[in-house]
Amino acid sequence: MVRTITTDVLVIGGGLGGCMAAINAADHGARVAIMEKSHTERSGAAGTGNDHFWFWDPEIHPRRGWTIPDMVRDISFDGEYGKTKGGLMDQELLEIVAAGTKEAVDNLESWGVQFRYDEIYPWNLQYDAPEGEKRYRIVPQFQSEWDTLNYDGRDIKKRLTEQCLKRGVEIYNRVSGTGLLTKDGTVVGATGVHMRTGEFHVFKAEAVIIATGMDQMRLFRTQSGDWFNSQSPPYITGDGEAMALRAGAEVFIIPAGKTGNAGFQYFRNLSRSSGTATTCYPAGRFVNSEGEVMIRHPAVREPLRKRRENVEQSIREGKTPFYLDWTDATEEEISYAEWSYGNEGLCWIILEMMKDLGLDFRRDAFELELEPAGMFTGGFLALFIDTDCATNLPGLYACSPVQFAGEVAAPTYVVLGWRSGEKAAEYALKAEGASLDEVQVESEERRVTAPLTADGGHPWQEVNKELNNIMEEYKGYVAGWSLPGEEAEVSRSGLRNSITQLEELKQAEMVAGDSHELVRCNEVTNLIDIGIMMVTAALKPDQFERGFWFLGKLVDGEPEFRKTPIVVKYPSKEGP
Ligand SMILES: Cc1cc2nc3c(=O)[nH]c(=O)nc-3n(C[C@H](O)[C@H](O)[C@H](O)COP(=O)(O)OP(=O)(O)OC[C@H]3O[C@@H](n4cnc5c(N)ncnc54)[C@H](O)[C@@H]3O)c2cc1C
Repeated sequence: MVRTITTDVLVIGGGLGGCMAAINAADHGARVAIMEKSHTERSGAAGTGNDHFWFWDPEIHPRRGWTIPDMVRDISFDGEYGKTKGGLMDQELLEIVAAGTKEAVDNLESWGVQFRYDEIYPWNLQYDAPEGEKRYRIVPQFQSEWDTLNYDGRDIKKRLTEQCLKRGVEIYNRVSGTGLLTKDGTVVGATGVHMRTGEFHVFKAEAVIIATGMDQMRLFRTQSGDWFNSQSPPYITGDGEAMALRAGAEVFIIPAGKTGNAGFQYFRNLSRSSGTATTCYPAGRFVNSEGEVMIRHPAVREPLRKRRENVEQSIREGKTPFYLDWTDATEEEISYAEWSYGNEGLCWIILEMMKDLGLDFRRDAFELELEPAGMFTGGFLALFIDTDCATNLPGLYACSPVQFAGEVAAPTYVVLGWRSGEKAAEYALKAEGASLDEVQVESEERRVTAPLTADGGHPWQEVNKELNNIMEEYKGYVAGWSLPGEEAEVSRSGLRNSITQLEELKQAEMVAGDSHELVRCNEVTNLIDIGIMMVTAALKPDQFERGFWFLGKLVDGEPEFRKTPIVVKYPSKEGP
């Protein structure tokens, strides 16, 4: 069963970025199709909602002395967020993102997402607006200026889906992208498989946009230890990156590392949440076991870097565990934070669970998971794009995953999605007319569907588990088992062994009982390809020089790497 679809622009991944790309490509006169593994109304990281959105408003921020260059500098270097990035920021893209956030908010508002209110509160930014005009609820977040909107974002994906359909975008839900199609080095389409029927899909397109999200879930073990109990959607499994790599696209790569200081991101006993940061503003505070306040408003993700002395002192004095405590907040503050929970992805589920358990923020404090300093973090790779969202392959564009261009949060992908849609449509409408390589299509179908017809083999879970074991070892070789800065031979031979193990794992035959399992098998294959690239990169002794992007691509199936300077348009005010 093969279904063939012809379009101008194909968007792979109908998350926030992908939907924005599709809408703008259609607005630029292109025929557009979205291939979405899940369902665009509820798919991706924003599927269950978003409650905050950072932006730069020309009516508000310049009056407060906050320009776009200030914002770019802050997010790259000087602010709470910038300090975590180690200079890895594409400032040219970030400038485009910052400048595009207000237009994004205006568009989303015109499509029915509420951003402005009659009532604003004492803890919101007080700014001048004409009498009677609704105002934004602006709160502080990671940046040094108040720049974040709280809003009714629970159904943002529904609103975006409506706008896609209104413009005639063809949405192929439950179709998981499996590979890019190329002709003479140009991307001319992609393939996918229907998660429920197994039907193989062939998309012929003048331009393709990768929008499959900024995660490689299930490459490493998850925080909870359970693949499907995670904050990020567990099926954002690096498919876009793997497809792009196999087609010859260039990616940027960062290695495994270590957390520098202890942090609180999760509740101790409710791991599917992100309610310990901006979302609990202004009611929440972090306290130790004696009730002493560590930080009043945990509206920044890395509060411990700011307040680490308090926390470390408490640890030394045995005043642990720590809690998120709203109990001394006013009723008005609690109601406001509960409204944010009602919009934030997964957090509204916490409110439901609390109801069932008879818990109430007015009365009960919640234990926090203390993530100790020195924990290993995984590596990461993403497509490398220029300021037109174009990759090194003609016909291939991307908005997510891409190199860092702002916070890894909604505004970045909303704006980059919008831009990639425009640029891909312009390219597609001028392109000559794609033709497919039928041999390539047939071989891709055989590769992708092989687990369905296999006589025997491993279920995907076995292979995924082994992959996790190897990648956890990799973290140790890169980030943990040698003295800092040492290129120890033990670690290098460990990495070489890891590559051999990954290559053997790639040969392991997998078996799928149905098309759902087939998609899981393909995800694991993609993760292995990403793992091989990541581990091979880690063997390069000069990887990760400050001030450079480390890039890699496959040439005739072999990894090749290079470095390119990170352009710094707005240097840190605090010096290098
Ligand atoms: C719980 C939670 C709450 C958040 N809250 C906020 C917030 O309040 N404010 C904020 O700024 N940010 C927030 N974020 C982050 C924000 O939601 C993401 O940064 C944003 O959704 C990223 O958009 P994206 O288009 O890059 O990826 P996503 O929106 O994740 O979309 C990726 C899409 O690709 C699809 N896909 C993946 N693989 C394939 C494939 N092979 N074929 C076809 N489709 C595929 C996925 O199903 C998904 O729909 C939150 C994230 C989470 C997880």
